Amino acid sequence: MATAASATNLEPSVSSFVERKHKMLIDGKWTESASGKTFPTFNPATGDVLSEVAEGDREDINRAVKAARAAFESGPWSKLTPSERGRLIWKLADLIEKHTEELAQIESLDNGKPLTVARAADAPLAADLFRYMAGWATKIEGTTIPLSVPYTPGTQYFAYTLREPVGVVGQIIPWNFPLLMAAWKLGPALACGCTVVLKPAEQTPLSALWLGELIEEAGLPAGVVNIVPGYGETAGAALAAHPDVDKVAFTGSTEVGKLILQAAAGNLKKVSLELGGKSPNVVFADADRKSAIAGAAGAIFFNHGQCCCAGSRLYVEDKIFDEVVDGVAQRANRIRMGPGLETGTQMGPLVSEEQLRRVCGYLESGKAQGAKAVAGGERMGEKGYFVKPTVLVNTNDKMKIVQEEIFGPVVTAIPFRDPEELLPKANDSVYGLAAGVWSSDIKKAHALASKLRAGTVWINCYNIFDAALPFGGYKQSGWGREMGRQALELYTETKAVCAAL
Ligand code: NAP
Ligand code: MG
Repeated sequence: MATAASATNLEPSVSSFVERKHKMLIDGKWTESASGKTFPTFNPATGDVLSEVAEGDREDINRAVKAARAAFESGPWSKLTPSERGRLIWKLADLIEKHTEELAQIESLDNGKPLTVARAADAPLAADLFRYMAGWATKIEGTTIPLSVPYTPGTQYFAYTLREPVGVVGQIIPWNFPLLMAAWKLGPALACGCTVVLKPAEQTPLSALWLGELIEEAGLPAGVVNIVPGYGETAGAALAAHPDVDKVAFTGSTEVGKLILQAAAGNLKKVSLELGGKSPNVVFADADRKSAIAGAAGAIFFNHGQCCCAGSRLYVEDKIFDEVVDGVAQRANRIRMGPGLETGTQMGPLVSEEQLRRVCGYLESGKAQGAKAVAGGERMGEKGYFVKPTVLVNTNDKMKIVQEEIFGPVVTAIPFRDPEELLPKANDSVYGLAAGVWSSDIKKAHALASKLRAGTVWINCYNIFDAALPFGGYKQSGWGREMGRQALELYTETKAVCAAL
């Protein structure tokens, strides 16, 4: 395990932003919380307080929903043409691109991820998502439908559908990709003409607040996007239950996803959920060994394993099991760990003390059930929330570490004999978010892809995301698809209009 050295200097604008006492964005104004309360966000590399942020609660959510309702019903948003909406969303993308360095530094500070990753992935993917969705604003179309009504013989009808915005949307996002998750949520909602109340995760509210400033600079009218930081049990729960919210979109744990669903039942608001995963990554003996090993390591260690689609169950054909596991373990041991802002860091700390405890708890449980670490297997150091990249063998499908989402840099490796033996194992999960297949036999790879119960299957690659590619889960991994044209379905209602001619 190498450690990195020498820190990146913060942009002056980032230093002053972090030092600020942060407010919330409601109706185009930066305001204190109604209670006057604030909460801290921490630097996970040190455990020190990074910033104080206004703590939103029910009253703030009420104010934000009211502003979003006004902007939707009578405000300028509903009066803009699709082209004008698209142009504003595109402008926001340009501003994100312009502020890539600042956004990446904030993300690295607040979440712990390496600055290089935030620069190369989080910020550019967020900008690209807004650009892609800006294009959709002018292409949300209905259809004309020929009718054959049997009980009105001789009458002709002209029937068509309209795709209309669903209305005021509540969006609740997690801490693993704070800026990018905000983009996945806001982009399609705005393209469809909805207005939004966004609640970022308590662990990582800062990039969403910077984004709020860019939203203002881009010229989105007041009330169209409201950002209310706060805790899930208070602000989040109030948003999910709010009677004047038409739809709630959530990304996070399956456990909280079920609470969102219950809260939404009060006014039967529409619900979309992007939840957990325990994704199988399958390596066949005919795979290109080098890329499969690199891919298997990347699948679990990218973003410290804090990805809902992390390839956390590695299934390797028995003939090459030792070679692949050894290769992944060697890669794990070479990963340079350190604070996200230090040059050379390849893996930063986990996001919070709570996650550190969770992940270490799983490592203990694995050991107690007989698993063996061939790399990592423990916390690194005493300061910050670092866990060594870990490869576990001697595992079986019944173990907690193989069944439950760990959400850390921990992969369990299991051998298999042939595709017939593999398939039921790969699908033996309450989750169904993603899967990977590594093989040089395209017939075999596509055949398996069609049988895996997962919303995304990557063949000879992993963690490839694109604004045009829908993403979401089977089974308890969620409801609905984000990104791609499918995301528009989450934010529109279909109206059928039927006229007798
Ligand atoms: P979480 O509790 O599901 O948090 C996700 C979001 O939901 C946060 O904004 C959170 O707010 C909010 N929230 C929490 N309780 C709520 C409630 N009762 N009503 C409305 N909103 C609520 O996730 P976590 O506790 O941060 O992480 C726990 C586990 O969830 C992880 O170990 C991982 O397994 C999973 N997870 C999955 C994803 C994913 O991308 N699918 C992302 C993150 C975590 P606060 O953070 O402010 O409390
Ligand atoms: Mg933080």
